[in-house]
Parts: sequence; structure tokens; C-alpha cells
Amino acid sequence: MVTIAERLKSAYARVEKAAQQRQSDHFNDQPVTILAVSKTKPVELIEQAYIHGHRQFGESYVQEAVDKVIHLKEKRDIEWHFIGPIQSNKSRLIAEHFSWVQSVDREKIARRLNEQRPNNLLPLNVLIQVNISADENKSGCRLEEIDQLAEFIHNCRQLTLRGLMTITEQTDDKNKQLQYFQQMKACFDRLKDQYPQLDTLSMGMSGDLEPAIAAGATMVRIGTDIFGSRK
Ligand SMILES: *Cc1c(COP(=O)(O)O)cnc(C)c1O
Repeated sequence: MVTIAERLKSAYARVEKAAQQRQSDHFNDQPVTILAVSKTKPVELIEQAYIHGHRQFGESYVQEAVDKVIHLKEKRDIEWHFIGPIQSNKSRLIAEHFSWVQSVDREKIARRLNEQRPNNLLPLNVLIQVNISADENKSGCRLEEIDQLAEFIHNCRQLTLRGLMTITEQTDDKNKQLQYFQQMKACFDRLKDQYPQLDTLSMGMSGDLEPAIAAGATMVRIGTDIFGSRK
């Protein structure tokens, strides 16, 4: 049986290879962080990845995620990222248990997270989720809404704007896929001119991390390739 350690190792190698390719293109030398997406997977598998040295984990379902965070709270150096759709009645749990939220796509949610983030915790790191393919079924704000939302988040004392996240449409059209990632990168660079502290462009998953890294991703979110397929 393939162990989590082996799967992690090949994920690191795959990302490293794509990042090196990018460097040889004189594109960008920022390292690429791997977020291990553990949604629907038991805490034992997260512990195995942890023992292997991995520290960044992503979850999509609030209640399941909070149970895991609480179960593993002795491992204080785990960095938990919330990456799923956010309903307003669940925002408090996210504000209290996570250090990052990658799926903020509207002002109402940002306002609640800011109000609900406990004062004894560091500000919550926030990525704005962008629906780059303008797909009806996807969450995320539209390109033209980014500036206003960024300004709002920037002015929230308990939130720190770190960058952008996207999930692109699943397509076999490699050119289209790359174009979406490049559009995101252009958008990120433009926003970074205004907010120089931005450092995170989260895009690319098990199926499309090479084009995402080629276009300039600083973080990829890998579920299946590390933890196996989900039901
Ligand atoms: C589930 C999920 C992933 C991981 O997808 P894989 O294809 O399993 O790598 C990445 N990002 C988000 C937002 C997800 O919900």
C-alpha cells in the first residue's frame, strides 16, 4: 500500500519540478507552498502527514473541520486553512478556529469574520476567492468586484488581506486553463501594486497544478494526490 509519506513525497517532487521549470523561464522565484486538502479524510491521515513534516492543511466543511482542529489542537504548529463555501451562520466557527480563510467572496462575510475574530488571536489571513471562469455554479466574486472587496478587507482590523484564490472550471482545453491562471496572475499583480504586502496566489489542484504554477501560483491545494480519492 502506498503510504501518505510516499504520496506527500511525490507531491513535493511534482511541485518542485513545476517550480523549477518556472525558474528556468526567469519567471518568478517565489517558492510554492503545498496546502494538503484533507476534507472528508480521517484525522489519522492528517497525523501521518504531520509526522512526515507537513504543516499546512485545508478543509472545506465547517463542522467536520472544527472537529479535526479541536482533536489536533495539541499540534499547535498546524496552519489550518478554510477553503470551502461560507454560510454566514458558520462564519463564527471559522473566525475562531482557523488562521487562514481562502474563500471570502463578499463583504457581508468579511464583515462578520472581522467582528467575530477573537481579539486574543492574530488577525485572520484572508484570500479573496475569484470566479475567474464566471461559472454560474461556482462561488467566488467576479473580476470587477475584487477592488471594492479588497479595500473593505484591507480596512478590517482583525483581517489581513494576503491575496487571491481561484478554482477553475474543469476542462480538457489546456490553453483555456492556462489563460484563466494567467488572468488571475495579472489580477494579483495589479492588486499587489496597491497592497504590496500581498504574497499569496492560491491556484492549482491535483488535476491542474502544472499550468497554475507555470502562470505564477504561490500555493497549490492538493487533496486527491496526497490523501487518495474521495467518495
Ligand atoms: C477539494 C478541494 C481541493 C483539492 O482538490 P483535489 O482535486 O482533490 O486535489 C482544492 N481546492 C478546493 C477549494 C477544494 O475544495
